Amino acid sequence: MNFDLFDHRLQKNGYSEKPMTFLDPEPNALLSAVTGIALIETGSRSARERWQEIQLRNLLNHASQRSAFWRARVGNRKASDVELTRLPILTRQDLRTQVASEGSLLRAADGFSANRHATSGSSGVPVNFFVSDFNVNYNFVRSLAQYFMEGRDLTLNRTRLVDASATDSASATKEQSWIGALSSFFKSGISKEIKVFNLRGEECARVVDELKKDDVGYLIAAPWHVNAIAAAFDLDFLKQAKTEMWVPFGAEIDPELTQTFADLAIPVRANYSSSEAGLIRAECGKFPGHYHVATSNVMVEVVDRRFEINGVSLGKVLVTHLHSYATPLIRYDLDDLACLRAKCPCGHDGPAIYNLQGRARSVVKHRDGRLSLFFPGQALAALTDFSEYRMRQTAIDKIVVELGGRAELNADEIAAITTCLQGFTGPNINFEVRACEQIDWGQSRKRPGFRCEI
Ligand SMILES: [Zn+2]
Repeated sequence: MNFDLFDHRLQKNGYSEKPMTFLDPEPNALLSAVTGIALIETGSRSARERWQEIQLRNLLNHASQRSAFWRARVGNRKASDVELTRLPILTRQDLRTQVASEGSLLRAADGFSANRHATSGSSGVPVNFFVSDFNVNYNFVRSLAQYFMEGRDLTLNRTRLVDASATDSASATKEQSWIGALSSFFKSGISKEIKVFNLRGEECARVVDELKKDDVGYLIAAPWHVNAIAAAFDLDFLKQAKTEMWVPFGAEIDPELTQTFADLAIPVRANYSSSEAGLIRAECGKFPGHYHVATSNVMVEVVDRRFEINGVSLGKVLVTHLHSYATPLIRYDLDDLACLRAKCPCGHDGPAIYNLQGRARSVVKHRDGRLSLFFPGQALAALTDFSEYRMRQTAIDKIVVELGGRAELNADEIAAITTCLQGFTGPNINFEVRACEQIDWGQSRKRPGFRCEI
């Protein structure tokens, strides 16, 4: 933790010009919220845990009062008598049932509006749920708090790649700052958003040109964005464009891509948010692969440690979102597999997730019960030409491979691809390799290279 406000450059006219006032209300409120989050997440453990218990009780009371679904789960116990670990696990199907029958649990009189959202659908059928204004604000404040907690330079630019429609692709918008109301107080770099559609061909070239125009600074981009760019361009240009850090989100990163960034000496600091709960964990600055839990937002449990990958026993990650008043998420199964420890080896005195070997949907299942990781993208790219790929395990012994941008594949190519992929999975998995002009990703924006559908 390096929360030192004096590390950051102040605006000369940052203080208030009103009588008997230090800071103007907006930056004051934002700075106070950032400080509160930093205190909870990095301050006294016992004070944090007490705060979490009280917040959990508040949420359980609210859910029981407003929802028959939750009354049935919590029972007649007082919220203070409920042990979190004894409540049933909330599956996606449970969530669908609650939302379909009860809608949002917030009312107009609560003073928060709630909006309907849906998951991207990359892990199956999209799930509908409601989030409140508070959640939206929290997500912004928490993203800023990460920069303050790590003492990151606010004067660097921040460049985000944002999924958009084909008509908007490669267009860019710029704003003077990315730190919201704090920009009247602290100096900051510019905020730039570049819209992307599928990052193929011409569009990819135009996005790369746009990235080269200004210093990139903090690059906020999904792994699939960077994979798609890496398929057509040498990523050296990112270094020349002064990319100081890549903050990936949404999915795992191929080990080859991690290595590419290590070679470029650009640090990678992954965040993991879910659209239902907001930020869940942020990667440790000292121990890559360890993630500090966003304890101002969620409580995390790892249960049912019977999943074994590469000799490591992993459990399911459950999340309890302390501010989920519109659609309660209590012991929600994220479909992640990982381990949890009480403290991070860096010294951070808060829970840390590690051995994040894969989302349950991003590992290959074998007939003998084994699970294995599968990152064949780079090897495949070295073997044959394609613009994008998708692999889906559709049966215990079958993976369907689609290669986009290809009208056809000859028998020799298919044989070579199969041999290459079986090098990762072993010979017991059969591959059905198909050429296709364009992959139909449906509603999914995340475009996972591999997904287990069984
Ligand atoms: Zn750490």
